[in-house]
Amino acid sequence: METKTCNACGHPFTPRPQNPNQTYCTDPVCQRERRRRWQQKKRRDDADYRDNDARAGKAWAAENPAYWKQYRDANPNYTERNRNLQQSRNQKLRASVIANEDASRPLCPPPSGRYRMVRIENGVASEDTWIVEIAVLTEIPLDEDV
Ligand SMILES: [Zn+2]
Repeated sequence: METKTCNACGHPFTPRPQNPNQTYCTDPVCQRERRRRWQQKKRRDDADYRDNDARAGKAWAAENPAYWKQYRDANPNYTERNRNLQQSRNQKLRASVIANEDASRPLCPPPSGRYRMVRIENGVASEDTWIVEIAVLTEIPLDEDV
């Protein structure tokens, strides 16, 4: 059996005879990394998997309400990192609103087309996104009272 290079740790390993296509060594850390990458790809590419995963996560969190509070208390770096990331997302959002207000054209409806929609709850963008199609049916002149 020929030697391969592990996709996670980069060390040489010999695939098990039962699995000649093996691309990760048997080190538990590398196996965890393999599963993590598989799940990441699945969440990115498979909408059903992503929905199901999000639902399962929400159901689990509802049954374990103390978990995330305890996790945040025990991991202040995690909390700090998330706070910084959210603040920079909020800044980007504010900057784009200001950019729109500064535009020389008055605010008008977006052109028909496909858009990525993100739900904003209490000023925080959720992780759920949808691709939506917006069709502008009629254009109303801006000076007309509706
Ligand atoms: Zn490895």
